[in-house]
Amino acid sequence: MSKMAKEYDLIIIGSGPAGLTAGIYAARYNLNFLIIGKLNGGAISEAHKVCNYPSQNNISGFELTQSMVSHVKELEGEIKQEEVIKIEKEEKKFMITTNNKKYFAKKIILAIGREKQKLSVPGEEEFLGKGVSYCATCDAAFYKNKIVTVAGGGNAAITAALLLAEHAKKVYIIYRQDKFFRAEPAWVKKLEEEKKIEPVFKSNISEIYGKYFVKGVKLDNGKTFDVDGVFVEIGFKPNEVFSKQLNLETNKGYIITNKSQKTSINGIYAAGDSTNNRLKQVITACAEGAIASTAVYEELKLGEK
Ligand SMILES: Cc1cc2nc3c(=O)[nH]c(=O)nc-3n(C[C@H](O)[C@H](O)[C@H](O)COP(=O)(O)OP(=O)(O)OC[C@H]3O[C@@H](n4cnc5c(N)ncnc54)[C@H](O)[C@@H]3O)c2cc1C
Repeated sequence: MSKMAKEYDLIIIGSGPAGLTAGIYAARYNLNFLIIGKLNGGAISEAHKVCNYPSQNNISGFELTQSMVSHVKELEGEIKQEEVIKIEKEEKKFMITTNNKKYFAKKIILAIGREKQKLSVPGEEEFLGKGVSYCATCDAAFYKNKIVTVAGGGNAAITAALLLAEHAKKVYIIYRQDKFFRAEPAWVKKLEEEKKIEPVFKSNISEIYGKYFVKGVKLDNGKTFDVDGVFVEIGFKPNEVFSKQLNLETNKGYIITNKSQKTSINGIYAAGDSTNNRLKQVITACAEGAIASTAVYEELKLGEK
């Protein structure tokens, strides 16, 4: 197997903004590369509206990400829709095992994003897909004239509530703090203008109940709300699969990189939301993907370390 398998200069793991931009730069540097991603587009595909990516003041996350996928393909970049299960370091290369086959590469860029945080309350797993959702963009249209609740208070929760208000008759947004201090003021202003949305502050959902489908939520102050849907937008946690497998240096689970996006292991780079960066947004993910591919190019072709 190993004798026959093609060896790439670079394998990029993850096909969100960081991985796709790394691919665009790798193509322009004429590197022999492959992108492997579970789902083309990444987390931003879920965004109802993106209004802060330069030159785009009103684009859906799906459109933004699909134009990145097209860009990679126009440059003849190869994207395989597979899940990477294991990465092993061999003497001068890496072996990457997916759910489908094995690949070899001299260098790797990890652009695997992060994972959504769960509420971890009774009913959350039981009613997943039966009223519990982690993606308002995917499921909002199912709640026409219904009552829903959003858990959370950051940008993702607020934009989910605004989208839901376009369909549902009532949207509660349940947040543990007493104001939306983590969200962009522009989104908070829009939320305050939307009459269908009612914030419920200083509360946490402690239980989701129902029969076959969600019927309501119970809060930690004992109050209950009759709702048909619960959208969970309470933040993220690091995707630690490969940092644990490879023993990469991390900070609170996020991969530590230097300014060239190099990790603690020679030959492995990381970019975007999976790293210990300060701002987890499309623009920073793209920038880090670009820097990582540039560093790979310099190391492979120009011999820089
Ligand atoms: C609802 C929502 C709204 C948002 N709104 C905005 C906004 O308006 N503006 C903005 O700038 N940012 C926004 N963000 C944040 C933005 O989506 C992220 O910062 C950005 O997508 C990070 O890109 P990334 O490539 O690092 O990670 P991701 O986009 O998370 O992509 C990682 C990719 O890696 C893949 N992957 C993970 N593990 C594996 C594996 N083992 N094998 C193969 N593939 C794997 C995943 O499937 C995914 O496709 C929003 C996020 C959400 C959820």
